[in-house]
This record gives sequence, structure tokens and C-alpha cells, in this order.
Amino acid sequence: MDESAIISHIIKSTDILPKPIIIGPGDDLGMIVSNGMKLLAGVDQVIEGRHVKIGEEPEKIGYKAMARSLSDVAAMAARPLGSLATAAIPGSWDQDKTIRLCDALRETAYRFEAPLFGGDIAVLAADQEHLVVTVTVLAEPPSSGRLVTTRRGAVEGDGIYMTGMLGGTIDDDGGGDHLEFTPRIKQALELSSILEERLHSMIDLSDGLGVDLKSIAQLSELSAVIDANSLPIRDDVTIEQAIQSGEEYELLFSATGDVPDHVLDLPITRIGTFITDHAIGSIMLENDGPVRDISNLGWQHRTGGQ
Ligand SMILES: [Mg+2]
Repeated sequence: MDESAIISHIIKSTDILPKPIIIGPGDDLGMIVSNGMKLLAGVDQVIEGRHVKIGEEPEKIGYKAMARSLSDVAAMAARPLGSLATAAIPGSWDQDKTIRLCDALRETAYRFEAPLFGGDIAVLAADQEHLVVTVTVLAEPPSSGRLVTTRRGAVEGDGIYMTGMLGGTIDDDGGGDHLEFTPRIKQALELSSILEERLHSMIDLSDGLGVDLKSIAQLSELSAVIDANSLPIRDDVTIEQAIQSGEEYELLFSATGDVPDHVLDLPITRIGTFITDHAIGSIMLENDGPVRDISNLGWQHRTGGQ
């Protein structure tokens, strides 16, 4: 099964949205208007054996599940309001383990100012062994008068930038930074405040550089060129590994004009430019052998990865 094909189908089949819905499927969060108030919402899940290794500590799973959804709030340069969580608990788990999971969800939500205010717990049948946690986040635009940042707003000539470093977030044993990353909520709000309307598009790096940039390029009807030499790659990581690495949770954005080289504590690196020279959605990598399209290079949820 090809997850991206399913998502494309869902996006296409919800082309016409009822009036209160301003942002529909295809972005990091959706947005709906009620009584004049704009409300953003999104849901994400963590499955034991898919997104975390089987037997991972409940504290780490709870943290990751909440932080993953909060990273989508960062991707829109939105401000968190609250969260809801569900957990399908394996029949083999005892009460202590379940409480540790719930506490991690609650504490992480509180830390990032998205208090957990509801949810549901179900205990799975004895032969169903894999935990599933979902987290729904609610958020609002950064301030009155300032809009959220979507994947649709990139324009030709925009510089393409990312925060932090790329690659190596998942260790061979399934551990690593993907369990401990910090959602870039503060940095995204700061970027939105500094760049204002010059911040044209943004996404959080969760599926891989090629795939995530392709999403912006497709929705903005552009192509992109990326300079392999400019990528801020961690030590001991190859270019190939870096561009295929998902679960980075850094901000990937496009902007026009001057962009600072830091936002709060994080470095910002320019890695490329949005152009119209190639087919829509093409992400051309230069300076790494022959120029090639990396738009399908990323972490495919259903075919590999952790
Ligand atoms: Mg996202």
C-alpha cells in the first residue's frame, strides 16, 4: 500500500469544502471558523512497532506521541490551545505502565502549553499486543491579524530554509533523537513574527526532505532546486541518508527577502530555491553527482523505517 497515494486521493476528493472550513486535508493542521474564531486542529498517531520499537518505555512513547502532534502546530506557526489523546493499551500491560504513559502525555502537553483536557482509553484483546496512541491538538493563529503559515503559499524565487541539523535521528536499535526532539513551536512563532508576510510556506520535516518539500511544491504549483553542499548534515551521516531521513521535526520553510541565520537558539540554513523550471512537484538535487529528482525520497510509513 502506498500511503502518499491514499493521502492524494483524500485531498482530491475533498476539493470542495463547506464554508466554515478554511484549510482542509493536505496541510499540517486543518482550520475551521466558528463564531468568527479561527480554530486549528490535527490528529496524529504513534504505533508500537511502526513509529517506536516494540517494548519502548511508556514515558518515551507518551512524549513522542504528544510532541509529534505539537510539531504540526509549529509547522503552521500556530499557538497551541489544548490536546486530547486516546490510547489502545495492549492486554499484557499492567496499570503502572499505563499510568506512566498517561502521565507522559499529560506532562508533555503541559510543558508545551497544550493542556490535555480529554481522551479515551481502551484495553486491547489479549492477542493484540501493539500499543496505539493518538493525539489531537487544537491551536489558534499566532495573534489576531497574523495568519497561519500553510504549505500552499510558496512563490517562485522564494529561498528554501531549514532549522537545525539533518539526519541520524533514529539509531540502529530504534532509539535516538526521534524520541526526544523538541517541537519548534517557539521558533516558528518567532519566525512568523520576524518575517511576517514574507514567510510564505512551512512544514515540519517528518517524512523526509524530498517528500516534505514536494508537498509544498505541489500545493504551491512549483518545483525546487536544492544545493547538496548547503545541507546542514550531522557528522557521520551521508547526503543520501540525510535526505531520506524522516522524523527530524525541524522546520522547513520558504521566504522572500532577508532571513536571519538564527531563530532563538536554532541555526537557519538556506538549502535551495523554489523555481518553475521543472514539472510541478520536482525537487532537483544539485552538486551530488548528476542532477536528480529527490521528490520521492523520504521515509515511507508503510514500507520501512521505524
Ligand atoms: Mg507535519
